[in-house]
Amino acid sequence: MQFDERIISIVNEAEERCKSSFAKLERVALENQNKVLEAFSKNNVGQRHFAQTNGYGYDDIGRDTLCKVFADVFRCESAIVSPLMVSGTHALTVALYGVLRPGDELLAVSGAPYDTLKEVILGDGIGSLKDFGVTYRQVDLKNGAFDYEGIKHAINDKTKLVFVGRSRGYEWRDALDVREIGKMANFVKDLKPDVVVMCDNCYGEFVDVIEPTEVGVDIAVGSLIKNIGGGIAPSGGYVAGKKSVVDQVAYRLTSPSIGMEVGSYAYGYREFYQGLFLAPHVTLQALKSSVLFGEVFDSVGYKTMPRPNSDCKDIIRSVMFDTKDELIAFCRAVQKASPVDSNVTPFPWDMPGYEHQVIMAAGTFVAGASIELSADSPIKEPYIAYIQGGLTYEHAKIAAMYCLQSVLENK
Ligand SMILES: *Cc1c(COP(=O)(O)O)cnc(C)c1O
Repeated sequence: MQFDERIISIVNEAEERCKSSFAKLERVALENQNKVLEAFSKNNVGQRHFAQTNGYGYDDIGRDTLCKVFADVFRCESAIVSPLMVSGTHALTVALYGVLRPGDELLAVSGAPYDTLKEVILGDGIGSLKDFGVTYRQVDLKNGAFDYEGIKHAINDKTKLVFVGRSRGYEWRDALDVREIGKMANFVKDLKPDVVVMCDNCYGEFVDVIEPTEVGVDIAVGSLIKNIGGGIAPSGGYVAGKKSVVDQVAYRLTSPSIGMEVGSYAYGYREFYQGLFLAPHVTLQALKSSVLFGEVFDSVGYKTMPRPNSDCKDIIRSVMFDTKDELIAFCRAVQKASPVDSNVTPFPWDMPGYEHQVIMAAGTFVAGASIELSADSPIKEPYIAYIQGGLTYEHAKIAAMYCLQSVLENK
C-alpha cells in the first residue's frame, strides 16, 4: 500500500506519543503470560490433550484439562470451555438460563446488556427469560461509574443474578475497571449474599493483570474468538467461576443428568490450548493497535474513547466521526487493509440480534473473529466506529495509515 508523506508522518508521530502506554501494556502482557504458563505447567499439558475425540466424549482429557487450565488462569474453582458454545451470546445465554429460575429477577447494573441479549431477556414468545417468568430490572451507569444508590434500591427479594458488562458495548462510554467491578460485586453481596454476580467479560481478558473472578464476581463469560482464543481458537465460548454456579451452567449447556461429563470434539483441542498460550501476546498486539488508532484519530481532531494516555480497560477504541460517510469510509478501509476478503466492500445490514443496521469490517482468518483487526458500528447518530483487534501491531499500523487516508479523502 502506498501512502502520502503527510499520512506517514502523522502516524509515526502518533506512535512516538504511544511509547509509554506501550511499555505499560507490555508489563501487563508479561505478567499474564506467566500466569498462563503456570496454568499449563500445573496441569501437565501434553500432546495427548490435543487429540481428536468422538461420540460421547466420556473422560475426554483434552476437554477436561482445558477447563482446568482456564480455571487456573481465571484463578477460580471451575470453568467450562467449549467449542459447543457457538458464540459469546450463546455462552452468556446458557449462563443466564443456568442460574435463573421462574420468579427470579435479573438485575443489570451497567446499563443494558450487550445488544444480542435484549431478545434473550425480553423477547416475546421465543422462549426468552421473560417467557419463563424471569423479570428484569436495569440500573444505568452514572457518569461512567456504578450507581450504588440506584443498585441498592433495585435489589429486592427476587433479585437472583446481577449482570455487569465489562466492555463498553455500542455506547459512548469507557469499559469498566476490574477493581470497580469487584467493589460492586462485594457491595451487592453485602446486601444480598445469595445473589450471583455475572460478568460479560468479552474483550476484557488479559487487558489487566487480574480478572473479574479474582475480585468477587461469581462467573465470567466470554467468547473464544476474542482475546482469550489468541486468534487461533476456531470457535467457542467459556464460563469460569465458582463451581456451584458453573455446574448449573453445565447442566443447562448439555443436560441436568450429564453436565460436563460429556462432549467430544472431532477436530481436536490444540488450537484452544495454543490460542490461550498466545492470548496475552495477541491481546497486547490488539491493545497497542487500539492505542495507536486512538492517538492517530485524536491528532486529526476526532473524539476518541478512551482518551489518549488513559489506561485501556478493554481492547476497543471508539472513534466518533462527523458524518455517516466518514464512518463508512473508515470501516471499508479496515476491510481493504485486511489479509482476507480485502476485495469485499462492507455495507450496513440488518444483523440478527441488533436493533440498528450495523456495518462490519472483518477480513479475518476465523470468520467474524474480532480479536483480528476489525471495526463495526451501528448506523445511528452519533457516528461511532468501534475498532478492535489486530493479530500483529504491524498490520494495525498499516491499516491506521490506510484508514486515515480514506477518512480524510471522504471528509
Ligand atoms: C462480542 C460480545 C458479546 C458476544 O457476542 P458474540 O458475537 O455472540 O460472540 C457479548 N458482549 C460483548 C460486550 C461483546 O463484545
